[in-house]
Order: sequence, then C-alpha cells, then structure tokens
Amino acid sequence: MRPEPKVPGPLREANPAAILGAQWVFEPTPRVQLVREGPSLERTILEFEQDKLGDWFARLDCGHIQHVRHEPPFTERAWAATEVSRSESIGRALDCIRCDRRELPGGYRRYKQTPVFTVETVPGALLRAHGTKAGIWGRIVVTAGQLEFVEQGEPSVDEIVRAGERTVTRPGLKHLVRPSPDVEFHVEFLAPAARRTRRDRQLEDHLRGRRAGPPRRHGGRWA
Ligand SMILES: [Zn+2]
Repeated sequence: MRPEPKVPGPLREANPAAILGAQWVFEPTPRVQLVREGPSLERTILEFEQDKLGDWFARLDCGHIQHVRHEPPFTERAWAATEVSRSESIGRALDCIRCDRRELPGGYRRYKQTPVFTVETVPGALLRAHGTKAGIWGRIVVTAGQLEFVEQGEPSVDEIVRAGERTVTRPGLKHLVRPSPDVEFHVEFLAPAARRTRRDRQLEDHLRGRRAGPPRRHGGRWA
C-alpha cells in the first residue's frame, strides 16, 4: 500500500511571546534545574535485610535501600549471594540511582527545622558550601521571593526555588543558597523515623520464642 500523500498541516501557532506583544513579561530567572549527566552517586552499604519475599536488599548510608539480587546471567552479584560475602560487602560502595534522582528515602520524617530566614537573618554558613550530618536530608522551603540552590556532586544541581516551592539537600554533598533580597525560607532536617518500636521488638521476641505471649495493650500503651 502506498503511503498517503502528505497533507500540509495547519499553520504553526505563532510564538506566544509575539501574540502577547507588549504584555509579554520577560522572566529573568526561569526555574532551571541542571542535573548534568555523569556517574551515579556512590553510597556505602550499612547492612543487609530481607524483604517479605526473602529477597535481600542493602540499606545504604543515604537512607535508600537497594535490592541486591544475584540472578545470573542478567544480574551478576555473586557478592550478595551468601551470608559470608554479604557481611564482607558491608562498607563497600553501591551506585544509588535514587540519590541521583534526589528522592527522599521512605520513612524519613522532619525532626528539626530552622526559623524563617530573610536576607538579613540568613546565617552566613548557608551562603557558603556546607553539608548536613551523615544520613540527614534537608528540605529548603521557600515562602517568599526566591533563591538559587547549588549542590555539588555527581550529578550536581543548580536551580531556582521560588515562593511556594521546595527542594532537597542530599546527605554528604556540599551545597549553598543564594537568596533574592525579598526571600523568606526555612530549612527542615529529615531523619529516618525509628524503624523498630518497642512493640516491634517484643513481637520479634515472641516469634523467636523468647516471650510467652504476644505483646498486649494496657491503658493505651503497649506492655
Ligand atoms: Zn541514595
């Protein structure tokens, strides 16, 4: 079958800037995010755990988890296949795509936050390259004006964060902010919520036979 002859399409819409004419407002600082191509961020393996299906995953020092299935010939991870080789792998580095994507790890909660800063009150340390404590993620919340957020690393970040927007800082990476004169913002610090509660531990003890019965509730608190 012969291809249909090409019918000329409708005329392309004129440039919106031309339509708006004099009303068109030039935006000198559009929101930009320059995440450059490059190698993934390397994070350190802290421990290994099993999911509900029995598959092993590594918990990394950034707070992310990563499955480490050994499924030759598709995925060669012989080092993750045995108890001994896994324990020898603690402390070694793994590429973390979730850090590249700047995804906040699951289960992270805000535990501290700064006062609202203006250009007059912003601590000088935030204007110079600085980092957060190991494993701690930051969230910069801009409520007025805007700021430029620059973060080193592979990939690095250079973006404008406007009023009503927020951005994250990744653990272990130096970053700084360049606020506009009318900026108002604060910083939240996020850490993993306690992974195991007292009740979790009691339930584990019960399942291991170290406790006579399952934990019971007394007066709103778990015994
Ligand atoms: Zn990560």
